[in-house]
Amino acid sequence: MTAAPIVVVLTAISAIASAGLAVAAHMMGAAMPLRSWILAGIAIDLVLLVATFERRAPLWGWIVSRGYARTPAVALTFDDGPAEPYTSQILDVLRAFDARATFFVLGARAVAQPATLRRAAAEGHEIGNHTWDHRALPLQGPRSIRATIRRTSDAIEQATGIRPRLFRAPFGWRNPWVSRAARMEGCEAIAWTVGVYDTDRPGVRAIVERSIAGLRDGAILLLHDGRSLDPNPDASQVVAALPDILREIQRRRLRLLTMSELLAEERVPA
Ligand SMILES: [Zn+2]
Repeated sequence: MTAAPIVVVLTAISAIASAGLAVAAHMMGAAMPLRSWILAGIAIDLVLLVATFERRAPLWGWIVSRGYARTPAVALTFDDGPAEPYTSQILDVLRAFDARATFFVLGARAVAQPATLRRAAAEGHEIGNHTWDHRALPLQGPRSIRATIRRTSDAIEQATGIRPRLFRAPFGWRNPWVSRAARMEGCEAIAWTVGVYDTDRPGVRAIVERSIAGLRDGAILLLHDGRSLDPNPDASQVVAALPDILREIQRRRLRLLTMSELLAEERVPA
C-alpha cells in the first residue's frame, strides 16, 4: 500500500472544493481571478495532506504522540507483530532487563500466534490494537474502520483475556473517522514521538543510535517486531539492538513505562 491513491483522492477533493467555492462566489457576484481559486485549491490540498499523513496533526481528531511524566520516563512500542521468532526474542531481552513495553499487534497475526501474545500479556507488557491487516485507513469509511478495530480487539481479548485500550493507525495515517472509531471501540488513539525506521534494516548500530537520540522525557519510541503482514519480517536487528537501548535507559535513570502507565502519569496533577 502506497500513499499515491490517497494523495490523488485528497487532491481531487481539494480541486472540487475550490471549484465549488468559485462557482458559489461567482453566483454571489464576487469576482476573483482564476489564479486565486487555484491557490485556494492547493491550500486546501496541503491542509488535507498534513491532516492525513502527519501523525501528530490534530485536525482529524485528538492524538497522543508523547507523554508528560512528572519524572523522566519513556515508553518503548513494538508494532506489526506478533512475528516469530522475533517477538519471543524481544520478550526474552525485556525479561532479562525486567522491562515492560507495549506491543501494537495486527489481528491477523494475533490469531496465528496467540501463545506469544498470551506470554507478552502475562509478563506485564501492554497489548494495543494496530488493525487486522495493516491496510491503510484514509480511504476507508467509518464502518470499515470500526470493523477492523473491533475484529482485532476480539482476537486480542480471545488470546489474552484483556481487551485493548490503545489503538495505533497503520503508518500513523488517519481520516476524520479514525480517532472517533477507536474511541467508540474503547481505545485511545496513540501516535509516537520518535520513529526509529528499523524496518529499513539500517544496521544494529543505527537502530541503537537513533533510539538513544530519541530518549527525551515522555518520548514514545516506535520499533517493530514485524513488518505489516510480511511473512518473514526479519526484525533481528531490533532484537540485537535492544540490550544497548535498555542499558542506556537504565544509565540515564529513565523510568520505562507501558503506554497506559505513561498516559496515567500525564493525568496526575503536578
Ligand atoms: Zn505498523
